[in-house]
Amino acid sequence: MTHDELLAFDREHIWHPYTSITQPLSVYAVESAAGVRIRLKDGRELIDGMASWWSVIHGYNHPLLTATLQEQAARLSHVMFGGLTHEPAVQLARSLVDITPKGLDLVFFADSGSVAVEVAMKMAIQYFHGAGRPEKKRFLTIRSGYHGDTLHCMSVCDPVNGMHQLFAGVLPQYYFAERPRCCFGDVWQEEDISSFSQLMEEHHDELCGVILEPIVQGAGGMRFYHPEYLRRVRTLCDHYGVLLIADEIATGFGRSGKLFACNHADVVPDLLCVGKALTGGYLSLAAVIARKEIGEMVSAGEPGVFMHGPTFMANPLACAVACSSVQLLLDSDWQTQVHTLEQGLEQGLAPCREFTSVEEVRVLGGIGVVEMKEPVDMEWIQAGFVEKGVWVRPFGRLVYVMPPYCIETEDLKILTTAICDVLAEGQLR
Ligand SMILES: *Cc1c(COP(=O)(O)O)cnc(C)c1O
Repeated sequence: MTHDELLAFDREHIWHPYTSITQPLSVYAVESAAGVRIRLKDGRELIDGMASWWSVIHGYNHPLLTATLQEQAARLSHVMFGGLTHEPAVQLARSLVDITPKGLDLVFFADSGSVAVEVAMKMAIQYFHGAGRPEKKRFLTIRSGYHGDTLHCMSVCDPVNGMHQLFAGVLPQYYFAERPRCCFGDVWQEEDISSFSQLMEEHHDELCGVILEPIVQGAGGMRFYHPEYLRRVRTLCDHYGVLLIADEIATGFGRSGKLFACNHADVVPDLLCVGKALTGGYLSLAAVIARKEIGEMVSAGEPGVFMHGPTFMANPLACAVACSSVQLLLDSDWQTQVHTLEQGLEQGLAPCREFTSVEEVRVLGGIGVVEMKEPVDMEWIQAGFVEKGVWVRPFGRLVYVMPPYCIETEDLKILTTAICDVLAEGQLR
């Protein structure tokens, strides 16, 4: 297939994420990728700023992960998980129990982040069913959140970004506290928790769970909030008897500078969702890690089992590559890498603060965000980045990057310089 044929068929027949069929934006055909470089079919090479949406933390085509996948494929690519088990699943569960906050001991494998969020929410509902409190079946979350694209996940995404009015009557209506205003690194302000605490006080009798992204709000706004907020949420959940679901699908595995973002606040959630970087970006896999007591309570209720079981649950290829990816991370000096990345992003993006088109620049761990005052012109800005040899995929008013941890200083410099240059050019248009 020629390059043109490929793009023409794609344009006619394939739906890309969050796109229009009648007014499609350009897509770029990829030939291969290695390390932090994506090679396009037309021969151009792009330094990757996105880690393919948080997932490719070790870079593309890592020899160890590729070898693991090949070996596992030669032995066992898939087998149903009902009534059967296998070493990749057991090894991965063992390492997840090991590295997640103490007290999280029970692993449920799911096939994507959204499914993991669905699973965690179902566990919270079944927990209170088992506890003889079936009226506790609603959720509280905070604004500016993002928890996935399936219907029930959408019901706890930010109501404005998530277009709740469009799905009115279909999405269950849950409670939304004001988003935390107190940023990571600011002085804690007591009133920041008041909206959340008031909703807890009013509605705890009907709440089974609180779901939120700890410290880093991802696709809902790319904001970093104060660890004290999370500690207060934990205390209020304990006080009112509501389960805390931490969605670490974006933040898990070191991205925020701690292995899990909950670690910034020393908070242990009742249920923890991981996904994205779990397999180092090789395959889709996610997991919910829960306190043992949750499993026991679910099992005590009707019908005595947890009501979920995906066809490709604990896929051996995905579990094997996840084991290798987690091991690779733990064997590496990821703290130093992420810290260096943080400094490089801070330095490299700082010039954007001077631009009149820029609202704010913020950096935490391996995440760099330039928030614009107006939504960017996607077609123009995407072409501008590709022209400069980098891959950055903004959305709305947010130009953000979270490169693979292994990105070298010079490549990071090229990436951040390209962002500054493209945004500077954008001001002159
Ligand atoms: C990406 C993401 C999800 C959804 O994961 P998918 O694998 O895309 O279904 C859920 N929660 C958070 C915080 C995410 O960043």
